[in-house]
Amino acid sequence: MSAAKFFEHIDLLRCPVCGTAFSRAAQSLVCENGHTFDPSRKGYVHFLPNAKPSKYDAALFEARRRILEAGFYDGVIRAISAAIPSDADVLLDAGCGDGTFTKALGRGVTIGIDNAKDAIALAARGGNSILWTVGDLTRMPVADASVDVILNLFSPAHYGEFRRVLKPDGRLLKLVPQSDYLKEIRALLGERDYSNEAVVSHLCERFRLLDRVRITESFDLDERQAADFLAMTPLTFDVAPDRLDASQLTHITIDVELLIAQ
Ligand SMILES: [Zn+2]
Repeated sequence: MSAAKFFEHIDLLRCPVCGTAFSRAAQSLVCENGHTFDPSRKGYVHFLPNAKPSKYDAALFEARRRILEAGFYDGVIRAISAAIPSDADVLLDAGCGDGTFTKALGRGVTIGIDNAKDAIALAARGGNSILWTVGDLTRMPVADASVDVILNLFSPAHYGEFRRVLKPDGRLLKLVPQSDYLKEIRALLGERDYSNEAVVSHLCERFRLLDRVRITESFDLDERQAADFLAMTPLTFDVAPDRLDASQLTHITIDVELLIAQ
């Protein structure tokens, strides 16, 4: 059952090694050159068998999931949802992490890709119809011109690959942090503000920017939520734990921009 969804939508996938189409052989996806990948009974395909462990580990993704489920990003999810055309049949979440956004936004046939196996295993847990893949954004296991909407949320991009897999009139929805995003955590760490204009200009080399939507909200935090925010952000990856005092974090600001491009 959990593997069947991949065979049902085999035409949306392609070999990430050589780029040829897959066909089914027993319980495997086999490309024209014999590269073979087996959908796991857990509901995902591991297209990166030699991947190195990531700093994005299960603890980070579980903290992120609790934060998303507590509703801190509900306004962000509403804004993204409003930007997905109603007739979109195939969605791809490129850099989907633990899949919480993917599940909130997915419709039609939805593919989730991330290079962190822990994240994809968490996303697939419990069984669902989304096609979860452990893969590389620079060589996605996705067929040419097959996708209506790419979501690229808080994740690096590969615009050449995005162009390849999108249908000609497909849409890219990219979510980027803005200057006040998690500013309370950056203040604790003594870090400076940053700007995303370089990200925007890079996107505009390959895509036409249709609209920019900014979402800014502030929230009070309890200590458990503060600890989860500290655990879920790459801002704290290289910070000694004794510098991270969750009791000092009593508020948090979400400040992001949704870039809608074609
Ligand atoms: Zn191949």
